[in-house]
Amino acid sequence: MSNVKCIGILTSGGDAPGMNAAIRAVTRSAIYNGIKVKGIYRGYKGLIIDEIEEFKTQNVSNIIQRGGTILKTARCAEFRTPEGRKTAYDRLVQHGIDALVAIGGDGTLTGARVFAQEYNYPIIGLPGTIDNDLFGTDVTIGYDTALNTIIECVDKIRDTATSHERLFFIEVMGRDAGFLALNGAIASGAEAAIIPEMSVEKDQLAEMIENGFRKSKNSSIVLVAESEVTGGAMGVAERVKNQYPQFDVRVSILGHLQRGGSPSAQDRILATRMGVAAIDAILEDQRNVMIGIQNDNIVYVPFSKAIKNDKPINPDLLNTLRISSI
Ligand code: ATP
Repeated sequence: MSNVKCIGILTSGGDAPGMNAAIRAVTRSAIYNGIKVKGIYRGYKGLIIDEIEEFKTQNVSNIIQRGGTILKTARCAEFRTPEGRKTAYDRLVQHGIDALVAIGGDGTLTGARVFAQEYNYPIIGLPGTIDNDLFGTDVTIGYDTALNTIIECVDKIRDTATSHERLFFIEVMGRDAGFLALNGAIASGAEAAIIPEMSVEKDQLAEMIENGFRKSKNSSIVLVAESEVTGGAMGVAERVKNQYPQFDVRVSILGHLQRGGSPSAQDRILATRMGVAAIDAILEDQRNVMIGIQNDNIVYVPFSKAIKNDKPINPDLLNTLRISSI
């Protein structure tokens, strides 16, 4: 059994809907198991500058339905330095925190891994990012809600696209992952998705235009994943203007809209399951693993695997989009 008497919890990197549900579940499960909880504000930054407060069950009341994170989040350059991490370690000792639950994306877990190795300190990660780009978990907290936001926006843009007979390139987030663009395109009935995973293999734009857009409709919608590799929606639209001037092109960048909003039922359930699993992992003396979900089962994924591997796109999805958009 574990000797952990007190845990710290933080959210870091980009916020994602469902982070609050995860904070709630971690806090309540810890208290249920007789472990104290300290909330650390503003991610690694709050750890360094000592923004730490004890959490009771009521601190996490009435938050399961709220987007964002009550713990706030921040990017923290200092945590990338050995001096910054030393201060962070001293704070943990000072507050009697024996283990940490870090909720965030790839960067957050990379920082957690570096710190855990440096100080032989137990950390459990929860995948909190709308990008769904962490290896070892079928989905990440926030991804489903972001997808739902995307389809709501695309449905609205479709009205104007159809009325004006335009070709719309809609940029969605994903950093260097095409999950939001590809599944967003399938779910919104878009004609195509331009994603970084495919851009290196082929010219998706040229292929799309050569195959002709959907003949049965007078407008077209294409989702583009933000990425240097795809060139983003602006880059793709610029190319079309130069190379295929017959199209009336418009661009819409959904941006931070995608991060906000009340989490979907799926994200609330996922975050709650993962939050409870984080405490189970601590009780089992697990360390330096990310909680993942695979085929509806909770799994422990070593940080080294979750961070270092690129999560592949399922080729079935590409085919599904191609067939369903003829
Ligand atoms: P999102 O996927 O939403 O962008 P993220 O967790 O990947 O979220 P980042 O800004 O990449 O967001 O990382 C969050 C924080 O993690 C950084 O601000 C930094 O404090 C820490 N971090 C990232 N990489 C490292 C590293 N190599 N060493 C130490 N700390 C790191």
